[in-house]
Amino acid sequence: MNDRLDKSEAEWRAELTPEQFAVCRQKGTEPAFTGAYWNTKTQGTYLCACCGEELFGSDAKYDSGSGWPSFWKPVDPARIGTEVDRSFGMTRTEVHCSRCGAHLGHVFPDGPAPTGERYCINSVSLKLRPTDPAV
Ligand code: FE
Repeated sequence: MNDRLDKSEAEWRAELTPEQFAVCRQKGTEPAFTGAYWNTKTQGTYLCACCGEELFGSDAKYDSGSGWPSFWKPVDPARIGTEVDRSFGMTRTEVHCSRCGAHLGHVFPDGPAPTGERYCINSVSLKLRPTDPAV
């Protein structure tokens, strides 16, 4: 999937849960250690919760201690868009789904080798598709 997906705010509000809408479309943040995936070790692919694009693989997931699912690389850098975020008195790099614009989280330069990147992602922005369908 690579064609851009544009939906109106009303369409997203109708198809997402209130929590998904608040995080993905209004750039909210789920509380640390509360999401579905921060401690998940299941093998699989993490899809965009809004459009289903394959964004992150469990092979690049690691325990950052932050309480949010953390990855040292995306499946494909082209699937991730970035934007400077100066909210809350900080300068951070916001990351979103290139296809549908869903806010995912932020990327920080304190991740592990080989990339040194830490993609700090809200669980609610993701949907895990396990490699083993029985999981
Ligand atoms: Fe998306």
